[in-house]
Amino acid sequence: LYSENQDGAFLIRESESQKSEFSLSVRDGKAVKHYRIRRLDNGGFFVTRRQTFQNLNAFVRHYSYASDGLCVKLGRPCIKTEVPTTYDLSYQTVDQWEIDRSSLKLLKKLGSGQFGEVWEGLWNNTTPVAIKTLKPGSMDPKDFLREAQIMKNLRHPKLIQLYAVCTLEDPIFIITELMRHGSLLEYLQNDGGSRIHLPQQVDMAAQVASGMAYLESQNYIHRDLAARNVLVGDHNVYKVADFGLARVFKLENENVYEAKHETKLPVKWTAPEAIRSNKFSIKSDVWSFGILLFEIITYGKMPYAGLMGYQVLQKLDQGYRIPQPANCPQELYNIMLQCWNAEPKERPTFETLHWRMEDYYDMDSALYSDTNNFIQ
Ligand code: AMP
Repeated sequence: LYSENQDGAFLIRESESQKSEFSLSVRDGKAVKHYRIRRLDNGGFFVTRRQTFQNLNAFVRHYSYASDGLCVKLGRPCIKTEVPTTYDLSYQTVDQWEIDRSSLKLLKKLGSGQFGEVWEGLWNNTTPVAIKTLKPGSMDPKDFLREAQIMKNLRHPKLIQLYAVCTLEDPIFIITELMRHGSLLEYLQNDGGSRIHLPQQVDMAAQVASGMAYLESQNYIHRDLAARNVLVGDHNVYKVADFGLARVFKLENENVYEAKHETKLPVKWTAPEAIRSNKFSIKSDVWSFGILLFEIITYGKMPYAGLMGYQVLQKLDQGYRIPQPANCPQELYNIMLQCWNAEPKERPTFETLHWRMEDYYDMDSALYSDTNNFIQ
């Protein structure tokens, strides 16, 4: 509710003094005033018993129409500010990023994958962090530390920041920035087109391309770019996660072509030359970015649905590419096809992809026909 807000700007928040109660804070001239929102036994809300509401939306609607006893009538919700990326937990962890695992509290399991689990946690009882716990034996600590040294120095607002590690005993912990809304894949699937439309989808692609353009500029390769490895924060911020990790993981029984489960089959995201001859490069990441575009536009559909990895590879060799999804504008599909050029050198750079996404709506005025829902 700082001064950029107008009179009547408000927010409804959890009360600091009364657990599981809400408070209303309103900007009135230069002051901010607070009201306790009380609950009815039937679940309704009120600030005065004279006027009660079934839900908070009805409450806000009423006081937006007239002040009705409040200091001012409610205006706009207060402006949300983007929290700047923190690059270190503290000045100590800048150089000493092997931290004591007792400084971490694991609070809530967020997910689990092939190589371990991810927890929401607290560092020093204060700083929210994500903690990746790695299954013993999933990587060689020496390899990992070498890679982590590089990852620690990669800093960009669209990359998940590595904060610290615990590698002295098993399980290895990787401590990173916490993203409140989890993976982009689930985020897209949960939405399924209800709130997310083309402008938001282009924005997601632009942010990912921006993070990847930074990796490109640092001569670093991701190796596992996919919607499952992009995380969603507040205020529509999207960041690339898990860069470089694929290189240090030990793929034990993995013949990537024949892995049983479709869901995490990286072969569908991987450029043919990377699968065949291990030629991973920033250009194989560009191929994966094309698949990520497909995931974004289809709200998280499985690419090459119904095909197994080896079948995909065969078909790609014959020139087959994923067909244009129904709701995908031609211009965006053209970009996907460029990312899937059989010749790595012919694929665009991330720098180019970034500006093409940023300028998407300027590229061609005809595009506006695709964007009925441009202004949401
Ligand atoms: P992963 O093992 O990296 O695939 O992570 C499993 C799941 O944990 C992801 O799909 C996310 O939902 C969640 N997750 C991973 N990293 C973070 C993070 N930094 N912040 C919040 N959620 C995360």
